[in-house]
Amino acid sequence: MAGAALLCETRAAMERILVTGGAGFIGSAVCRGLIRGGARVLNFDALTYAANLNSLTEIEGNPNYALVEGDICDRAALDAAFASFEPDAVIHLAAESHVDRSITGPSVFVQTNVVGTHTLLEATRHHWERLGGARREGFRFLHVSTDEVFGSLGDTGAFSETTPYDPRSPYSASKAASDHLASAWRHTYGLPVLISNCSNNYGPYQFPEKFVPRMILLALSGAPLEVYGDGGNVRDWLYVDDHVEALRAVLHKGRIGETYNVGGNSERRNIDVAQSIVALVSELTGAPRVAIELVADRPGHDRRYAIDSSKIERELGWRAHESFETGLRKTVQWYIDRRDWWAPLFQRERLGLRA
Ligand code: NAD
Repeated sequence: MAGAALLCETRAAMERILVTGGAGFIGSAVCRGLIRGGARVLNFDALTYAANLNSLTEIEGNPNYALVEGDICDRAALDAAFASFEPDAVIHLAAESHVDRSITGPSVFVQTNVVGTHTLLEATRHHWERLGGARREGFRFLHVSTDEVFGSLGDTGAFSETTPYDPRSPYSASKAASDHLASAWRHTYGLPVLISNCSNNYGPYQFPEKFVPRMILLALSGAPLEVYGDGGNVRDWLYVDDHVEALRAVLHKGRIGETYNVGGNSERRNIDVAQSIVALVSELTGAPRVAIELVADRPGHDRRYAIDSSKIERELGWRAHESFETGLRKTVQWYIDRRDWWAPLFQRERLGLRA
């Protein structure tokens, strides 16, 4: 077992990994984690509104790290990146990722998440088919997806890898399409694809439009926390660094052609998350507690997500290390300390209401 772990680490340390979307929330955590682990990383990112190069200052001068500003819909730019970097693996995170934005403007979601993933798969196939021997054998394409492709749960049960797809929002439908494309490239062309479907992430460097940072920043501004609907929608929260470890496990130990569900075993109602944030912000800053306001629901708001992570735990030995309480405390403290990072990005207006 120790030998296998060493082999896995040795392989990881030598690897050249092309990361798409590495300037985003999870992608930047992936880049930082891979560089710390000794890999060489090429971050291929279009630098959309969701990207932030200030999330990468820790590694920007590292000789093992490089950034290419490029769009995954641009085949020529992808081909050039593959030709110059010659990756051993791709971790595909680039996407439009915010459900509320997908309600007001779905086209870019189809373009990036569906057309872009197709273009990336073709560029990867072109690269992979020209590799010889051990490099071809060892090559991997890890497609990073979401539990939202499975739709919405009732009060009980959890999504497993065999749950039928039932996406409800333009975002989740576009991610579901991209999962099917990745899977088809495995079956049709033999491309060594792995897929992960992860629950809601939170942690440092998350763009302020997402639920957890938005609630924290409203509380830090002394404004009421706007919670959609009756606040009873449930998400299964995972600390972002635990997701990074899951992706490393899938990349290095996962079985080709398999999908792995990743979750934090931390189901919480939105209203409870908001209440925890109100209490933490008050405790850590000494400011009075702000109010919580229930506002009009998100159209088509999925009621409950929960993930059964037993496959990745059993087969790959991964498990989440951070509890929701410890992870949330760290995250609130990070946003208190890093006003420099979020102040230029935070907007009070709500997104995602139909015109
Ligand atoms: P994010 O919005 O923070 O970052 C997305 C990144 O992709 C940005 O840096 C952006 O510039 C880049 N990008 C967007 N369009 C691009 C294009 N056409 N070409 C190249 N780069 C482009 O997203 P995130 O929250 O870090 O999510 C990353 C991935 O993980 C996504 O695929 C998402 O579906 C998936 N995921 C996210 C969560 C979550 O809770 N955030 C959960 C499960 C899965």
